[in-house]
Amino acid sequence: MPTINDNFLKLAAGYLFPEIERRVAEFTKGNPDAAAKIIKLGIGDVTEPLPEACVVAMHKAVDDQSKRESFHGYGPEQGYAWLREAIVEHDYLARGCDISADEVFISDGSKCDCANILDILGSDNIIAVTDPVYPVYVDTNVMAGNTGGADEVGDYGGLVYLPATVENNFTPELPASKVDVIYLGYPNNPAGSVATKETLKKWVDYAKEHGSLILFDAAYEAFVTEADIPRSIYEIQGAREVAIEFRSFSKNAGFTGTRCAFTVVPKGLTGRASDGSDVELHGLWQRRQSTKFNGVSYIIQRGAEAVYSESGRQQAAGLVSFYLENARIIREALERAGMTVFGGVNAPYVWIKTPAGQTSWQFFDTLLNDTHIVGTPGSGFGAAGEGYFRLSAFNSRENVQEAMQRIGAVLAV
Ligand SMILES: *Cc1c(COP(=O)(O)O)cnc(C)c1O
Repeated sequence: MPTINDNFLKLAAGYLFPEIERRVAEFTKGNPDAAAKIIKLGIGDVTEPLPEACVVAMHKAVDDQSKRESFHGYGPEQGYAWLREAIVEHDYLARGCDISADEVFISDGSKCDCANILDILGSDNIIAVTDPVYPVYVDTNVMAGNTGGADEVGDYGGLVYLPATVENNFTPELPASKVDVIYLGYPNNPAGSVATKETLKKWVDYAKEHGSLILFDAAYEAFVTEADIPRSIYEIQGAREVAIEFRSFSKNAGFTGTRCAFTVVPKGLTGRASDGSDVELHGLWQRRQSTKFNGVSYIIQRGAEAVYSESGRQQAAGLVSFYLENARIIREALERAGMTVFGGVNAPYVWIKTPAGQTSWQFFDTLLNDTHIVGTPGSGFGAAGEGYFRLSAFNSRENVQEAMQRIGAVLAV
């Protein structure tokens, strides 16, 4: 019998979304009439169809694959140059960021990239995460053996948790001691908060001073509506020397079921080998990807390229404003109901303070029982998320309006 990776057993604390499903199933069993009325504003998945420009480009790419002259077999592991060049032109050069096409690695998702990046890092790093946090950062470190076990609130030994609270505008303070790797995500999932230039500069300066690596998740950059909020960490001078950035087409162009993303690993960004020498992370990531990954489908990369065409950009912006309008409707309805809410301005998530005396899970049950709305308990994202609740703006306008009407009727004080 083979032995297993025991680190997986440390994850026993149970994953958030299965517990939500379990409670919803239990509720519908006891209330079969209410089952049809359930509106899910829980999981962060998009609902609207792909931009037309992407659909047209993918149809054409399917036709390319039908003829010998335009057929494509294995593509470059790093992604086609035409897609990497479009990314650099529109996402980086246009915003004054000094990033080149050979620093961009196309992949089938940022969830896997921010997990796989651990392949090229040592196992003795001190790792910091924000709290609340996107669970992938934590769980992948647990699986890799970078942590101890979980305590009663679900915090893992060995990780440095940086609380994001109302006092710090949901943008954590710098760690009190030196850390080697820091995961940051802005606009933030789950708290819907953003980092200003000053905040990000503080992190870049910290990373330079301590030789730390920032893993920056910018999956929601397209939702930034305020002009002075950075969309990329590379808008901060010096960030090339300290940061890897993860981006995805999932949320800006509805690619959650189509799958395309990219990671930027700047040349010159280094880590320390055990013999004391400095090694470029770019070369390691290239080696990792070309060994364990065979690239994203030609058809999908053509679809992603079309996100940067003139019509594609307009249509993707239309999708983003559709979800942001949902977020505004949610925010305003909750405020009218007397609740305290954060986020939802530069992000598709509204972060709610649970009403006095209710834990995150108690409020989950209240909302499910009284309004048949499913959200996500803040405590599922970390101990500092206790007393908060996330509602997602990814849904149809009709469902969002209906959900907010119910909240207005039932919860208003
Ligand atoms: C949705 C999301 C992503 C994107 O993941 P994909 O694998 O590209 O779909 C990345 N980070 C966060 C925090 C997300 O919420």
